[in-house]
Amino acid sequence: MLETPHVVVGAAIAARVVNPLLAIPLAFISHFVLDRVPHWNPHISTEKRLYGHITKKSVAVIVGDAGLALAVGTVIATTTAFTPGMPITIEYFDWSKFALTMACCFASVLPDLLEAPYFFMDSKSGAIAKLMEFQKSIQNDANPTFGLLTQILTIGAALLWIYG
Ligand SMILES: [Zn+2]
Repeated sequence: MLETPHVVVGAAIAARVVNPLLAIPLAFISHFVLDRVPHWNPHISTEKRLYGHITKKSVAVIVGDAGLALAVGTVIATTTAFTPGMPITIEYFDWSKFALTMACCFASVLPDLLEAPYFFMDSKSGAIAKLMEFQKSIQNDANPTFGLLTQILTIGAALLWIYG
């Protein structure tokens, strides 16, 4: 799955679960659950195998998605850290809540971040190879139209969970 839906679900877990000892591991586990939802993302393992590198188009998708994920995660972490019903000023900004949301966003994409050294720098340790094999085995691939729609719906559902 793309990183943006992972991050929005991670932020939703932070908003709803609150206890960091529970929320952060749950955000991490949510990564693998979401990868079971039929989805489309660039097939970078296949590209790497066929061409020895990732195509320009896939790099563009990854950079755009990563930028969007970072922006959306930061916006959610900021907006949910203000105390409801209080003036939107720094006095009512809950820094620990902000930090928890950012930590959950990070945990939600950590499995993919751990694979980045292989895709972008060709370094692959035994542990990363095992992680990649596992992540590959649980992916539920779909065609781009359906596979993007499921991710938009995932984002919508998570946003409703946060703000609804
Ligand atoms: Zn993944």
